[in-house]
Amino acid sequence: MALIVQKYGGTSVASVERIQAVAQKIKAFKEKGHQLVVSVSAMSGETSRMTALAQTIQDIPSLREMDVLLTTGEQVTIALLTMALQQLGCDAVSYTGPQVCIMTDSEHGKARIKSIDNHRIFHSLDQGKVVVVAGFQGVDENGHITTLGRGGSDTTAVALVTALKADECQIYTDVDGVFTTDPRIEINARRINVVSYEEMLEMASLGSKVLQIRSVEFASKYKVPLRVLSSLIDNPLGTLITREENIVEQVVISGIAHNKDEAKLSLIGVLDEPGIAFKILNPISSANIEVDMIVQSVSAREGLTNFAFTVHRNNFKTASKILNNVCKEIGAIAVQSDDKVVKVSLVGIGIRSHAGIATQMFEVLHNEGINIQMISTSEIKISVVIDEKYLELAVRSLHAVFELDKE
Ligand code: ADP
Ligand code: ASP
Ligand code: MG
Repeated sequence: MALIVQKYGGTSVASVERIQAVAQKIKAFKEKGHQLVVSVSAMSGETSRMTALAQTIQDIPSLREMDVLLTTGEQVTIALLTMALQQLGCDAVSYTGPQVCIMTDSEHGKARIKSIDNHRIFHSLDQGKVVVVAGFQGVDENGHITTLGRGGSDTTAVALVTALKADECQIYTDVDGVFTTDPRIEINARRINVVSYEEMLEMASLGSKVLQIRSVEFASKYKVPLRVLSSLIDNPLGTLITREENIVEQVVISGIAHNKDEAKLSLIGVLDEPGIAFKILNPISSANIEVDMIVQSVSAREGLTNFAFTVHRNNFKTASKILNNVCKEIGAIAVQSDDKVVKVSLVGIGIRSHAGIATQMFEVLHNEGINIQMISTSEIKISVVIDEKYLELAVRSLHAVFELDKE
């Protein structure tokens, strides 16, 4: 008998029929003698629908009230799934995050889980029940309801595994695993059998939204093996996310990630002198805007340089305004801003040991006539910023040249 934590995402509980199908699946696991704790998302589209609804009332609604609103999505699905289980004769009980003391910090909209009280869950498991827990939500020490950021139900599931010392963590979604790239962009994308935490963390951070970044961080920290599986088709293999040491067959490139949320800002004609990066980026970070890639070009003969960086598209307008002020203050020539850029990244542990991957990547893009605007590399990834109109072309040609469609 194993204690299994399962997570079903929005598409897996998008209708009454899907919820009933999930209940059948859970019942079958239970009948094999396993104990089950199930975390669920809101029905697909609900979180976005409620976000839009709030914005019809207030441009920037209070983060606290947003959390009160959004957590209702998961409360609906835990109750419906529990009813569906009971209807099948499978004893079950639902709990909201606060009911099982999923304690978080007070950062509304992006709270971090600090602890979970497992007593109530174990008590219900001991009574032979399936325990259904609302994903994405918690409560801070003052009793305020919090949410964990978009895609946060993944993190709830991983946190439940650590709190319960469960044997397995299964993340059920609408694809049957982690693919070499987003299957919505490249139909030849292939399911990856095994991938390391490190690579999955890079892929998630670089835009592969199949798992929330924090869930992978959490899993890596506590060495929780994760399996991503499909709730729609039966494939018990899926993708295993585990420690690098457990991976027998290493590949050079594991996958290609892309991020459409990018925007680029450049300051042209800046004096190349000490403190310039600080003067430009300090007002940006003071406005709580995260900067991703940064490029400062080599200064030309006149001692002038160009300074460019990327931010999330949501922050584009604010960052542009700030940079225009900076431009005047430091006497730079001009600001250039572009929110029609995307980031495409190659991810793989093999990049560490194979020289020339970056050159090969640049050659592919050159052959397609795609201009690279920015480059950034780390041990296991190479990212480029390109014009958004080339996104599909870049992903597909890189996927083909690096033969990611082949075993
Ligand atoms: P859920 O609602 O179950 O949490 P998500 O929509 O958050 O599901 O994540 C699944 C989606 O992630 C897939 O439908 C797919 O389009 C997208 N995706 C992006 N990159 C990848 C990838 N490398 N492998 C698999 N899916 C990916
Ligand atoms: N319902 C939340 C969202 O759409 C959390 C999740 O699905 O994981 O982001
Ligand atoms: Mg998700």
